[in-house]
Amino acid sequence: MSLAHLLLRHARLSPDKDAIFHGSQAHASYGTWAARSASLASRLIEAGLQPGERVLIFMGNHPRYLEILWAAWWAGLAVVPVNAKLHPREVEWIIGNAEPAWGFVSADVAPGPLAGLARQIEVDSPEMDALLAPLPDALAQPVLPRVPGDLAWLFYTSGTTGRPKGVMITHRNLMTMGLTYFVDVDPVAAHDTIVYAAPMSHGAGLYAIPHLMAGARHVVPASGGVDPAELQTLGRALGPLSTFAAPTIVKRLVDHAEQAGLGPADAAAVWKTIVYGGAPMYVADIQRALRVMGPRFVQIYGQGETPMVATALARAHLTDTAHPRHLERLASVGVAQTPVQLRVADGQGRELPAGEVGEVLVRGDSVMAGYWRNPQATAAALHDGWLVTGDMGSLDADGFLTLKDRSKDLIISGGSNIYPREVEEVLLTAAGVAEVAVVGAPDAEWGEVVVAFVVPLRPDATTNLALDEHCLAQMARFKRPKRYLFVAELPKNNYGKVLKTALREQLNETPKPQR
Ligand code: AMP
Repeated sequence: MSLAHLLLRHARLSPDKDAIFHGSQAHASYGTWAARSASLASRLIEAGLQPGERVLIFMGNHPRYLEILWAAWWAGLAVVPVNAKLHPREVEWIIGNAEPAWGFVSADVAPGPLAGLARQIEVDSPEMDALLAPLPDALAQPVLPRVPGDLAWLFYTSGTTGRPKGVMITHRNLMTMGLTYFVDVDPVAAHDTIVYAAPMSHGAGLYAIPHLMAGARHVVPASGGVDPAELQTLGRALGPLSTFAAPTIVKRLVDHAEQAGLGPADAAAVWKTIVYGGAPMYVADIQRALRVMGPRFVQIYGQGETPMVATALARAHLTDTAHPRHLERLASVGVAQTPVQLRVADGQGRELPAGEVGEVLVRGDSVMAGYWRNPQATAAALHDGWLVTGDMGSLDADGFLTLKDRSKDLIISGGSNIYPREVEEVLLTAAGVAEVAVVGAPDAEWGEVVVAFVVPLRPDATTNLALDEHCLAQMARFKRPKRYLFVAELPKNNYGKVLKTALREQLNETPKPQR
């Protein structure tokens, strides 16, 4: 089966229903969406593209994103959606690796021609209008993806360690992801509405699949991004919205609600469900989010190699404040999602008992087929079907997984392991602290020492001394930061993740402050 069959099904079932919105304006009904995607698919095939070939998508969020994704799948092609913040040279590297035949771009992110594409189409051009114009004899049935492989989506990792790798995500992976959403994250109904505020080239775009399965409504904000006031207005117009947001975006939504004096009842009118994940959510932050916006959160943990599917912390768990281990659960990423097995193992792949920290492994139908044209990297990441995630964590007796940073972020100071996240959780409960990121700095005496980058609420909201006292009162002495660096903001990537590599680089350039 192809993901394109999902669109065909709803185009038959409810052709006149509004499916895609640009801001609060209807952009396409289910019938129109299918007609445009099928027609573009026919033109791609006419132009000679063969099943299994790739098309590149290099643009910000756009209602046509969905039409292009489904056109490619309708034609039996795979998509290569690229982070809109990448430099054209970086995109050309991806083009060289993935060898897509055609590229769909927006003028703002790709102002000139990209090397290596047979044809480059600007999404807002008359050329694109013509490609999407419904054909009377458009391909009535989707072309089945080529087997073996059934590649649907080549997802390029952010490449913090070397060149990005193309993660091969199949139709079967994404079908599993879509169905699992209903079981483990949030049941979706036809009257529900998903809003794409985070980049559609990443996890947020994948949420089109469960929402298409349900025949729900899809909204791309006019701004194309996260503007809390705009989302508030959209929620009131198209009502209660669901979205996927990195923890930093959740924080912005909560800040906005708090500043506007809005409470859980207001949030209920605007938001059905906010799924968060992709980076650590600190206990203090999710508690504040629940207090300000009410019980509308679900956490997921996944990665490009098992998109959106590894664990989930359900709404019921997030709100079960009476549970004796409620706080531990809030700090966890929840339990294995239905289609996967989860394991914490030592360096040799041996399963560790509950409570011990090791490498997190995941196996199941959501796990990638491998890395594109990179058998060595595939062999390193997949052992007997088990995906080596690169994340460290521990399972408790009930099956809740608590992540302890990626193995490369672990700090080893004087021979002791220090998990930055533990230190970050404590610092975030100190008065006057808005955001924090902890990294290890090389040190002649200790090997590494703990350094905290702190964004204060106001320039004079806290001091070295106050933070040091706060840490000493709550954690072992050896874990507390040896240096605090006050900064106006933390470097983040397009998906809202704090770039610890950038912080470590910055450390090499920063003179040691006097204490
Ligand atoms: P990506 O492949 O870009 O989606 O990044 C995946 C990585 O983000 C994972 O391997 C984790 O290190 C991190 N991550 C994803 N979800 C969570 C979560 N809920 N809590 C903490 N870290 C997460």
